[in-house]
Amino acid sequence: MYAKPDSNPMTTRIARAEDAMDAALKSLSYRLTETEDSGMEPTRQTGALGAMRNDNARAAELPAGADAVPETVPEIAPLPASAQRVPEAIATGRPSREEAEAAVRTLLRWAGDDPNREGLRDTPARVVKAYGQIYGGYGQDADVLLERVFEEVEGYSDIVLVRDIPFYSHCEHHMVPFMGLAHIAYYPTKGVVGLSKLARVVDTFARRLQTQETMTAQIADVIESILKPRGIAVMVEAEHLCMAMRGVQKAGVSTITTQFRGAFRNDANEQVRFLTLVRNKS
Ligand SMILES: [Zn+2]
Repeated sequence: MYAKPDSNPMTTRIARAEDAMDAALKSLSYRLTETEDSGMEPTRQTGALGAMRNDNARAAELPAGADAVPETVPEIAPLPASAQRVPEAIATGRPSREEAEAAVRTLLRWAGDDPNREGLRDTPARVVKAYGQIYGGYGQDADVLLERVFEEVEGYSDIVLVRDIPFYSHCEHHMVPFMGLAHIAYYPTKGVVGLSKLARVVDTFARRLQTQETMTAQIADVIESILKPRGIAVMVEAEHLCMAMRGVQKAGVSTITTQFRGAFRNDANEQVRFLTLVRNKS
C-alpha cells in the first residue's frame, strides 16, 4: 500500500552552504509566492528546502560502528501476514541459507578473491547473518508500531516533533549504504504515540533496499494513515556512499527529501516552523 508514494519529494543535492537557515527560509517564502503566481503543483513547494546545508556536527552524533553486527542479531523474521508492502516475490521462493551463502561466495569470486582463503572462510555466513539485521525491515510491519496511541494526552494538539533520528539504509540501485537523520513532526488529533515508535518506524523502512525519496514518503504515509494527524512533515537528510565511493565520487554531499501533508502542505508558516524547530538547537 505504501510502496508507491503518490507524490514525489523534491530531491536536492547540495554542498555545504553558509547561512543555510536564512537562505532556506527566504527560498521557502520565495517559492511559495512563485507557486501561487504560476499555479504550479502544490507538491513542488517542497523544493524550497534546496538551500539546507550538510550539518557535519550532527552527522558526528550518529552512533559509531554502524556496520558492527552484534552477536545477537536475529534471523530474518518470518513475514507478517499484514506486511502487504513486502513484494510477493520475497514471501515466496525465498532461497535457503545455504543458497544465500553460496551466492556470497560467488560474489567474492566475482570481486577477484578466493572464498576458501582463511580470512574469507566464514564471511558468507557472517554476511547472511548481517542481512538479518540490515534488511530486517522486510519482516516488520510499521502499522503495528503505531497502534498504541496515548489518548490521555488527547487534549494536546500542538506540534509533536522528533528530530535527529539516525538511520542506516541501503540504496536499491547498488546495495551501498546511505545514512543520515530523519525528522518527523505532526499535529495530533486522536492522541500521540510513544516517541521511540517513530524512530522504529524509520528503522523499519530504512532496513530495506530503498531510495531516500520512497523512504520519506513511506514514513509520512504510515503515520498519516494510522494517526490521522492534522498535518505531518517529514524531512530526511542523508549521505549516499554510492555517490561518495563510486561515480562522481563527491564526499560530504547531503541529499534532502521532504514530505509535507495536511496542515504543512500549503502553509509556508507551518513549513518554516518545522524547519526552525529542526535546525535550532538551544
Ligand atoms: Zn546507489
